[in-house]
Amino acid sequence: MAYDPENIFAKILREEIPCDKVYEDGTALAFRDINPQSPVHVLVIPKGPYESMDDFSENAPDAEIAGFFRAVGTVARQLGVAEAVGGDGYRFLANTGRDAHQEVPHFHVHIFAGRDLGGMIRRA
Ligand code: AMP
Repeated sequence: MAYDPENIFAKILREEIPCDKVYEDGTALAFRDINPQSPVHVLVIPKGPYESMDDFSENAPDAEIAGFFRAVGTVARQLGVAEAVGGDGYRFLANTGRDAHQEVPHFHVHIFAGRDLGGMIRRA
């Protein structure tokens, strides 16, 4: 499937629609989820056009992959949720494809924090 440049995160990257930005560098942008599932719920996206974790891990240059995952850690520390900076920890996940209910076809990592996040996965 080809990357859809009209997806909502592509529009955020082009600043066609606003976001509640928490971090930006040359590789990644992080902003608060519009429908938060935990007290802290931030999305981290690469600036490149990758539709999923599958696409990103296969096709992004090594420097972009390294830069992106460093950005995820930086955001968690900047938010104060990483244990290394005195927080209580966080969960990050990337829904990938249909069974995972990926809604936006631009690769993104969710960072959830600010409460006990419960077990790893819920039965359907
Ligand atoms: P996923 O199911 O992993 O694709 O998650 C997509 C996420 O994007 C959901 O948690 C939505 O609440 C979030 N979302 C959709 N539109 C926006 C937006 N304009 N700004 C911030 N978050 C958004």
